[in-house]
Order: sequence, then structure tokens, then C-alpha cells
Amino acid sequence: MIIVPEKEIAALIGRADCFDAVEKVFAAMASKDAYNFPVIREAIGHADALYGFKSGFDRTGLALGLKSGGYWPGNEAKGLTNHQSMVILFDADTGKVKALVGGNLLTALRTAAASSVSIKYLAPENAKVLGMIGAGHQSAFQMRAAVEHRNFEKIIGWNHNPERLGRLEDTAKELGLPFEAVDLDRLGEQADVIITITSSFSPLLMDAQVKGGTHIACMGTDTKGKQEVEAALVARATVFTDEIAQSISIGECQHAIGDGSLKEADIRELGAVINGQTAGRTSQDEVTLFDGTGVGLQDLAVASAVVDLAVKKGVAIEVDF
Ligand code: NAD
Repeated sequence: MIIVPEKEIAALIGRADCFDAVEKVFAAMASKDAYNFPVIREAIGHADALYGFKSGFDRTGLALGLKSGGYWPGNEAKGLTNHQSMVILFDADTGKVKALVGGNLLTALRTAAASSVSIKYLAPENAKVLGMIGAGHQSAFQMRAAVEHRNFEKIIGWNHNPERLGRLEDTAKELGLPFEAVDLDRLGEQADVIITITSSFSPLLMDAQVKGGTHIACMGTDTKGKQEVEAALVARATVFTDEIAQSISIGECQHAIGDGSLKEADIRELGAVINGQTAGRTSQDEVTLFDGTGVGLQDLAVASAVVDLAVKKGVAIEVDF
């Protein structure tokens, strides 16, 4: 069995490899060559923690396994990251354990890769302004990955707690782009691409605030009850997702499905656009929306890529198990 500890991941894998892995697995999901197993997520009644499993199998990449972990809100006070996870990969031919891989950085990278794949396939070609809603841990990862797919000239941002906007400003500076803090009216009016990455349980961005000719990647809503954009905006948009079942149950689409303004049949898989089975953006004025709910197969894809890189670079730790 191979072990790739959390502290080794940053030196092994970057955005480009994660982008490739996520793009391929979205395509495999749409071709029905890869599927996610039902998600388990439970409040364990200790340390206020949420704990669970995401798992699946990709026949094309032979990635079989699970990500296990969750959210421990008290960790920050202990100097630890609140989100904790690891990936276990199994040999698809024998069922033997193949690898244990740290999952914390990989989760951030695979989530950023998902919104950037959506930008590659769905954003207006001439997008110039990137709008960020949310300034938490994940926001910097999303921004860095997004700017690699269009020639953005400016980043604008909004956050519920304005004192955290420094993260967006610092990341934009690192990318050599000007940054401006704006209200949501200006964000919706000026941004060609919008990424939402918050823990909100009520809509932040309203339908009337979005001008059109816009691509929105909704990345924060991954649980029943969470919501980042008004349901009417989802209903107006051409909607794409990583996985339809998750989109309607725990993703941003749950609300528009719930009020009847969106039908399941209106939601398309991003992988089907990658495969050329479904059209992506069809007009310059269209609002496209990617509901990125986060699937286990993304975790398995990036973890498999890390294991391959660790073996190739001679840094894989091998143990008899
Ligand atoms: P974080 O705790 O570091 O940041 C949370 C962000 O949400 C901050 O910007 C905060 O100001 C904002 N926020 C909190 N409460 C809010 C409210 N009531 N209204 C508006 N904004 C509010 O978290 P993070 O690591 O940056 O992750 C952000 C979200 O993304 C989380 O909800 C997480 O569950 C989700 N996430 C989704 C995926 C996926 O694959 N879709 C992957 C990782 C994280």
C-alpha cells in the first residue's frame, strides 16, 4: 500500500493536473463510465462534528474508493483546519487497499478545478471581469484556478463579513490583477463570471442583479438547506451540474426544484458538454449556471493522480498491509 501524507501533496500536484483529472472524470460520469455511490453525512453528536463518506468507481481510470472526513468547527482554536479528510483507494481488480492519501488540500484543489472546468466550457469567451462572492478558505483556490481560463482584467468581490475581503485582495494581487470590493448590485452588473463560495443558508445574489451574458459557478451549496442565489436566477439560467441527483437534493438547484420553477430535465451534466453530447452556452446574452455540488469521484480522480505522481517522482511511501 502507498501512503501520500497531507504534507507531501502540495509539492506533488498543482492546478493543471487537478483540472485534467476533474475534466476527465466529469466526462466519464456523463458517459456512464463512472458513478458516485450514495453519500453518508452525519452529525455525530460529539465536538459539533459532521462526519461522512463520499465514494464511487470510475471504470475508465479504474479509480475505486472513498473520501472520509468532515467538519470539526472547534479545530481552528486548536490550530487545525476545520475540514479534515483522507482518501482511501482500492485496487479495482482485487479489492486490496491501494493507497491512503491526505484529502485536505486535494479537496480545495478539486473544488477549484470544478468551477474552472465550468468556466472553460461555459463562460463568455470575452469575459473580462471576475466577481467573487465569499472570502473564506476556499475562495483563494477558486480565484487562482478561474483566471487560467479567460483573459480577466479585473476582479471584484463581496463578502458577508467585509473584514475578510483581504484574502480576495491579496490573491488578486498575487495574480497581478486589480481588485475592488463592491456591493452585490455592482457585482451582478459588472461581472462576466461569478463564483459563489460561501456557507450561506439564504440567497445572496438576486435574479434582478445579474445583467446577463454571465456565467455563474455556485460552489458553496453542498448541503440540504444551503442557498447562495435566488431560485428565480437558477430558473432563468441554463443550468449545468456535476451530478444531477446531488444538484436537486443538496445543491443550488434544490430550491428552484422545490418551488417548481426548474425541472430535473432542465439540468444538464457538465460532462455531457465536455463530451460534446450537449450544447454549452448558445448565445452571448445567456446566463449559464454551474451547480458544483462536489462529488466523491472528483476526490478519487485527484487522489489517483497524486499517487501516480508520487510513484513517478520516487517519493511514494510503501508499506506492507
Ligand atoms: P470558510 O468557513 O473558510 O468560509 C465561509 C465563507 O462563507 C466566508 O466567506 C463567510 O463570510 C461566508 N459566510 C458564512 N456565513 C454566511 C452567511 N450567512 N451569509 C453569507 N456568507 C456567509 O469556508 P470555505 O472553506 O471557504 O468553504 C465555503 C463553502 O464551500 C462551505 O460552505 C463549504 O461547505 C463549501 N464547499 C463546497 C465544496 C464543493 O465541492 N461544492 C467543496 C468545499 C467546500
